[in-house]
Amino acid sequence: MKVKCPTCHQTHDWDTRNRYRPFCSERCKQIDLGAWADERYRVAGAPLDENAVSVDEWGQSSSQAH
Ligand SMILES: [Zn+2]
Repeated sequence: MKVKCPTCHQTHDWDTRNRYRPFCSERCKQIDLGAWADERYRVAGAPLDENAVSVDEWGQSSSQAH
């Protein structure tokens, strides 16, 4: 069985002894995990920033109204 490495797109044999599958090597697995971690960090960071701003604005306008 042949599989394509998601990182380097090289075709290699599917080997159940390969602990890095579906990647061809440890290096390709680490690259993919690193890219995924970066993506998750960006996605998680954006809503937190927006939330902090909106809560702060709501608190200011509320106290000014009274
Ligand atoms: Zn690879």
